[in-house]
Amino acid sequence: MAASTTTMTEKARKYYEEIEAFYVSLYGPNFHHGYWPSPDDGTTYERALDNLTDQIISRVGVGAGDRVLDVGCGMGGPAIRLARATGARVTGISNVASQIRQATALAAAEGMAELVTFELADALALPLPDASFDAAIAVESLIHMPRDPVLGEIARILRPGGRLVAADFCLNSPVSEVRRELLDLYQRLDTLSPIIGFDEFGPMIRRAGLQPIELLDATKHIENSPRMWRDRMHADRQNLTDRYGQEGLSGFDKLIDDVITHGGPDYLFFTARKPSPARRP
Ligand code: SAH
Repeated sequence: MAASTTTMTEKARKYYEEIEAFYVSLYGPNFHHGYWPSPDDGTTYERALDNLTDQIISRVGVGAGDRVLDVGCGMGGPAIRLARATGARVTGISNVASQIRQATALAAAEGMAELVTFELADALALPLPDASFDAAIAVESLIHMPRDPVLGEIARILRPGGRLVAADFCLNSPVSEVRRELLDLYQRLDTLSPIIGFDEFGPMIRRAGLQPIELLDATKHIENSPRMWRDRMHADRQNLTDRYGQEGLSGFDKLIDDVITHGGPDYLFFTARKPSPARRP
């Protein structure tokens, strides 16, 4: 593996070890945005977090007996929900040991350990055979990796005809100077790969040897999320102050307020398929 990709994996690991308590407070076992069918429809945050996973599940098209890889599985919420909804066998991988421990415990507590397992692994060097999965999902994880190499790895482990469904960050609207600065900060603090244009996803998917099936800008469905983070931060203030200190917390406050005011990254779902070999005439 190239030195730069090793460094990215290490940086992401350190970031997630440090941020874990904050994320648990904001997201529970679902380290991703919420999804609202329409922005002011009264959907609770809890429900919106599950809705986002359901958007992935509805696109992945798997059932009992299928094998699904969850790339960058976090605390396991999405993998467990996917297995419960479809009956598929799900393997979640992450580069953070404490996530794997907690995700494994959650699957056991929810009676899902037969169908869902979690392993410590680097998504850029998956310890998995070629063509061994019917589908893969990647929920807000690709942004932490150089995307071409990770998409290549996912294409390798998918069987021909297998699907990848991902939720990812992008840019698909005009960027004011203040939003540009905010996105740069967001990227430095939170993510490691560049936030690329919506239109760059199709060519990137093709470069990995996959066929794009759907690219959908979902920004307006996730935009309530930062207000929910702010509410949760207030509710868990003491605990978070003990963990990150006043100063650390005011940094998070400012970032969240700025995202609410100026807008964060745009957001998309994409579905891609590994082509089946052409039939001989
Ligand atoms: N998909 C999960 C977690 C999203 S957070 C959810 O929706 O809840 C991003 C995840 O990507 C974290 O679990 C992080 O540890 C993981 N990740 C980042 N870089 C990785 C890498 N190189 N290999 C494996 N996992 C990685």
